[in-house]
Amino acid sequence: MTLPPFGRFFLPGPTDVHHDVLQGMVRGMMPHRGADFEALFARLVAGLQAVFRTRRPVFISSSSATGLMEAAVRATPPGRILAIVNGAFSERFARIATACGRDTVVLDVPWGRGVAPGDLRAALAKGRFAAVTVVHSESSTGAATDIRAVSDLVHEHGAACLVDSVTGIGAAPVETDAWGLDFVLTGSQKALALPPGLAFAVASEGFMAHAREGTERGVYFDLVEFEQYALKHQTPNTPALTLLYALDAQLPRIAAEGIEGRWARHAAMAARTHAWVVEASSETGLDLGVLAPPGERSRTVSAVTLPEGVSGGQVVAGAAARGYVIGDGYGKLKGRTVRIGHMGDHTIDTLDGCLAACLDALREVAPRR
Ligand SMILES: *Cc1c(COP(=O)(O)O)cnc(C)c1O
Repeated sequence: MTLPPFGRFFLPGPTDVHHDVLQGMVRGMMPHRGADFEALFARLVAGLQAVFRTRRPVFISSSSATGLMEAAVRATPPGRILAIVNGAFSERFARIATACGRDTVVLDVPWGRGVAPGDLRAALAKGRFAAVTVVHSESSTGAATDIRAVSDLVHEHGAACLVDSVTGIGAAPVETDAWGLDFVLTGSQKALALPPGLAFAVASEGFMAHAREGTERGVYFDLVEFEQYALKHQTPNTPALTLLYALDAQLPRIAAEGIEGRWARHAAMAARTHAWVVEASSETGLDLGVLAPPGERSRTVSAVTLPEGVSGGQVVAGAAARGYVIGDGYGKLKGRTVRIGHMGDHTIDTLDGCLAACLDALREVAPRR
């Protein structure tokens, strides 16, 4: 079987998967109630604990990340939920809260920005909330939020902080235990560079104690069930075994680099991309920009703003013609931006290939000077 070469796929999810990881999936099935599975599960949780910087159990869900966003809402004690919305994924978190029957208040933040502490403080002062939802790295805009500061403010208010770090964990510092995060989740197909289909989360002891008293937890995304089975090194239902095999192949690769090394590599790839936007603007004469301002930029996703007359679709097609996949803008930014996912197992080397292809694509659409 011929696999496409690694290093050409820069969608902000799914991300490119290394051949060693893809090949690691080709293993026979095993019963998920048995000693072999329990050994596998224990090994996976230990590797994930290093990624999440936690000693708590890491829940492994056979679902995409959205499943664990819903689990977080369902486990939240009764009361209103404040949703910080600064892009399409944080909007989804708010929608999940509403759909689960929760009284939800939205704190609107301009797309491309993180929430300002003063605005959050003012929103919290307006009432009592059981939980606040926040997205660490808004993959629709490339904006990063200081989740430690948000979590601290939320705790002063006495609420739980539910963190979507789907394009954060594995790329940007997240100290689950040291920062006292109540709930933090990610998905397999982003910075961890696995195929889509798994989601991972950690819940604090306090958050789980409240969850156990709740009555609206449902079944498939019930964190209490996840916890009970995790104690036996099992999952509540049949897990996506082949994806667990991929994780089993990837975790030693992550450990070999070290989580801090991974954070540093992602910082370097983001900086390279931001510098390239300036270079590409002057090379092509096009007014290009990074949507998020300096200091609020994600390490994993850059949304590049395009001038009038250049569409995201043109740039995406131009990159594709050169063998590279990047993303069009997301949601209301579609067409007006392109998104480059510089995450997972990419390196400055593979990224430079992608940026060169994007520059050629931009030259093609730029008016002649
Ligand atoms: C991709 C993504 C999600 C949704 O993940 P699915 O795996 O598609 O459910 C949620 N939040 C953020 C920030 C994401 O990037």
